[in-house]
Amino acid sequence: MSEHYFEEEEFDSQVNGETVRRILGQGLKHWPFMVTFLVCITAVALIESYFTYLSKRMIDEGILARDLDALRALAIQYGLWFLIFAVFVFGFITAAGYLGHLVQYDLRKQMFDHLQKLPLSYYNRTSEGWLMSRVTSDAVRVGDLVSWGFLDTAWTITSVLTSLGFMFFINWKLTLLVLIMIPALWKVAITFKQRILTEYRRVRKLNSKITGSYSESISGVRVVKSLGREHENLNQFNELTDDMYQASYRAAWLSALFLPAVQLVSASGIAVVVWFSGVQFEAGGMTIGGLQAFISYVTFMLWPIQQMAQVYASMQQAVASGERIFSLLDTEPEIVDAPDAIDPGSIRGDIVFDDVSFHYEDGKPVLENLSLAIPQGETVALVGPTGAGKSTLVNLICRFYEPTSGQILINGFDYTTLTQHAIQSRIGMVLQTPHLFSGTVLDNVRYGRLDATDAEVEEAAKLAGAHDFIARLEHGYQTEVGEGGVLLSVGQKQLISLARAVLAKPDIFIMDEATSSVDTLTEALIQQGMENLMNGRTSFIIAHRLSTIKSADRILVIENGGVSEMGTHAELIRARGHYYNLYTRQFRDERQKVYGLDGAVPVAQ
Ligand code: ADP
Repeated sequence: MSEHYFEEEEFDSQVNGETVRRILGQGLKHWPFMVTFLVCITAVALIESYFTYLSKRMIDEGILARDLDALRALAIQYGLWFLIFAVFVFGFITAAGYLGHLVQYDLRKQMFDHLQKLPLSYYNRTSEGWLMSRVTSDAVRVGDLVSWGFLDTAWTITSVLTSLGFMFFINWKLTLLVLIMIPALWKVAITFKQRILTEYRRVRKLNSKITGSYSESISGVRVVKSLGREHENLNQFNELTDDMYQASYRAAWLSALFLPAVQLVSASGIAVVVWFSGVQFEAGGMTIGGLQAFISYVTFMLWPIQQMAQVYASMQQAVASGERIFSLLDTEPEIVDAPDAIDPGSIRGDIVFDDVSFHYEDGKPVLENLSLAIPQGETVALVGPTGAGKSTLVNLICRFYEPTSGQILINGFDYTTLTQHAIQSRIGMVLQTPHLFSGTVLDNVRYGRLDATDAEVEEAAKLAGAHDFIARLEHGYQTEVGEGGVLLSVGQKQLISLARAVLAKPDIFIMDEATSSVDTLTEALIQQGMENLMNGRTSFIIAHRLSTIKSADRILVIENGGVSEMGTHAELIRARGHYYNLYTRQFRDERQKVYGLDGAVPVAQ
């Protein structure tokens, strides 16, 4: 099961102040929106409280005093204030919406920019799912925090403060009584909200696991059936669904309990207030309008407080999202160009490995003391068992990784004195499972050189041997290849990548041959395309089918951290060493596959 099914992080109830500061910093970049929304939300909270005060005056000075003129004047005032109120509501919703989107957009852009700079090694150790979640859901959560999260906080604070202000004005003794209730309400609300969120998070995690388990057993159905593992699979699946049922049940139960619990606290508070205000009223310390307004203020103030519990709980999640985003943005590329690194234009393609050793992890050497000189234009084939270090050697040439010790020279330059762009932009690569971007065939070939004309693209496709199959596609060069090129076969994707490489006119060409079966016709086309591309260029082929590399200038057998044999096909066959064994075994296997014969030992050519 792939890693990202489990990647939702554990709940962290601590809000990291530094992260909150950085998130706010993202919002402050768009300070005009931030100021607008703070001004609007403060005005909204003030006017809301004033409405209640106006009601008090309407009751006391209008209705109870039987003064219709005063009542009319107050009603007109009420209406006018409502218009102003509507304008501020419009202002804060618009500003918050813009702010949220701008922060999301900024974060996505910063992450995208940064991801382009991070080396291959970062992608090797970070799952695609993890990265996707940072760019999608985490960016949304942080954007929402800056807009709605901070907005709710500002609204709550202003509402509570202004309500308290008016309440003090009406009756300060009662207000002190209300103040005691606030911590109790906050405690109940926040405890419930955090538990509810934790349960929902558990449900989501289990749901991901169940989805993963579904897709695994569907895609691996042949293995499951052939090993008779249906029963074990079912048990595992049932355990997951049981856990999910329990967690969903708890979440639903807690959610149902939340409102009654909060209401119980509020109602007890309000009951006490009503009782004491009654006492005050009797004693003549309060008017009817004042009594009504006071109760309205208490109710009005309690709502944002319990809302705040929800906001605070989601804020913890958003801050955790922010922490993950910043951890990505703070990752430094391991390979950085020297300040005086140069780009010599062409890198021609003389490559020298001078006593190069390399390891990914300490104590596990992959290449050791490798010395090798490859003159411009030579075709080098790399063979050897899986895990011997063939791809590593190629990755070193591309400077996706740098030697742990020793030097690699390109055209006599220690390649660490060149810019990475100088090297990587002049290397053409065709991978075992080539990647195509969604778009048309034309777009994909043109990716090799963005300013190429349609005619140049077609010319490149012809040289690569891809033109004929493209021409036979329903819409020719305008055919959509689907996401990742899913609508094409591996062989066709390799041909398109070859055309892309031909168009790019690289100085060095690298090909990782496809291991999956490619039909004989496509194989011949790929072979021809490769030869056209290799002509006159320094080229490296990681060869899986040895029949395709007989014409290489040099074959390197990579084994045990170094080159164990080196020479042309004929020389290595004559030497009767490891290559000879590999070659004869493969040859025999192929013959057996085709003719069912015990393949004879081939003769050196
Ligand atoms: P080949 O291409 O010959 O199959 P590789 O160059 O891919 O071999 O791998 C050589 C060795 O390095 C293997 O033992 C492999 O497990 C290890 N290796 C390859 N890539 C990494 C990596 N990113 N991190 C750690 N070890 C790696």
